[in-house]
Amino acid sequence: LAERLQGTIQKIKGKGKVSEADVKEMMREVRFALIEADVNLKVVKEFVKKVSERAVGQDVMQSLTPGQQVVKIVKDELTELMGGEQSKIEFSTKQPTVIMMVGLQGAGKTTTTGKLASQLRKKNNRKPLLVAADVYRPAAIQQLETIGKQLSLPVFSKGTDISPVEISRQAIEYAKQEHLDTVIIDTAGRLHVDENLMQELKDIRALKEPDEIFLVVDAMTGQDAVNVAQNFNEAIGITGVVLTKLDGDTRGGAALSIRSVTQKPIKFVGMGEKMDALEPFHPERMASRILGMGDMLSLIEKAQSNIDEAKAKEMEEKFRTSSFTFDDFLDQLTQVKQMGPLDEILKMLPGANKIKGLENAKVDESQMGRVEAIIRSMTKQEKTSPEIINANRRKRIARGSGTTIQDVNRLLKQFEDMKKMMKQMSGMNQKGKKKMSMP
Ligand code: GDP
Ligand code: MG
Repeated sequence: LAERLQGTIQKIKGKGKVSEADVKEMMREVRFALIEADVNLKVVKEFVKKVSERAVGQDVMQSLTPGQQVVKIVKDELTELMGGEQSKIEFSTKQPTVIMMVGLQGAGKTTTTGKLASQLRKKNNRKPLLVAADVYRPAAIQQLETIGKQLSLPVFSKGTDISPVEISRQAIEYAKQEHLDTVIIDTAGRLHVDENLMQELKDIRALKEPDEIFLVVDAMTGQDAVNVAQNFNEAIGITGVVLTKLDGDTRGGAALSIRSVTQKPIKFVGMGEKMDALEPFHPERMASRILGMGDMLSLIEKAQSNIDEAKAKEMEEKFRTSSFTFDDFLDQLTQVKQMGPLDEILKMLPGANKIKGLENAKVDESQMGRVEAIIRSMTKQEKTSPEIINANRRKRIARGSGTTIQDVNRLLKQFEDMKKMMKQMSGMNQKGKKKMSMP
């Protein structure tokens, strides 16, 4: 959010006692940080007032760790501002459940339609139907069809010679026939909020009262996102918000004010262009993230769902017995890659927002690609007994993988070092264990 706020928090955290002046100084920074992050002015005022009242209260002044108390209050209030607990999706008892995706052009509706469908299938066991109701641009229909193909999910599309309302009506009928229980309608966007668009959305809404109307907004548009949310909400009544492109933006301004302005919850956040980059919105984590504590919970969750536990045990055993080979190395590399793009993972680490330039940084994934290529160019024997890789073999591997001999040498050296380190580490563990079990 802001380096200045971070600085003030650090200063106060270490303090033994907090005076009213300290609180005032901190609130000034908080106010500044929020305005800078594009938070609605009215929201900022209310927020600062609330936090100040609590922070100068008796509890804080008499507490042993007043600095931490204040930080906690700021975090709690930020969480509260963003809507308390995370929200779930409403499913209809009358089939099918209808979810409308609405928003301006380029906000991420089509992408999110795919992500949401994929997630509902995986986590809720739903059978989604994607509906291409953006009939104004042929490319938009194609885009949804491509996404459907990629996810192996059915897409209902009828080209561009049909009205969005009619296509939605047919899609709902089709879903009933085919026992598809969740219809997700990807509606057309506009560059600006306009009457025609709102009328069209109202007509689609009238077909079968949608169980959810999700407004998709681009977090990078800051204060504009808040206005858009307010407009859509007043015109058609949204049930929730999906905030996209949060991966490219460290400012949480939109998340902070959308909820308090519309009174509608943010249900999901888009964290990347890939189909699995949709996460439930956790206000508490968002608050931590804004305060620079890093989004450790999200990160741990991500790691847990991707790294197979049995595999991890097997690796540990291999470390211990030093039978770790290049095949295992490749295996590990693949698992790390499954966690998602490395730069996204890096950004979730605590303090990451303090590293200058990281928001624009791209981790050199081609480096990982090179390593992978080198290992794949090795023979089976070379992978298990790398000591046999002589100069001739190195040349061959470099050529086969499209890298240089230097690249190959570097990797071999790294691998040797890693093995040495593992041996030492597991040696230490063994000793430790023996000691522990002695009477
Ligand atoms: P629509 O016009 O509202 O349907 O928007 P699209 O779904 O076509 O998305 C517009 C662009 O934003 C595309 O290039 C998407 O890949 C990109 N996009 C959507 N969601 C995200 C996100 O969460 N993170 C990032 N980085 N890009 C996104
Ligand atoms: Mg679209």
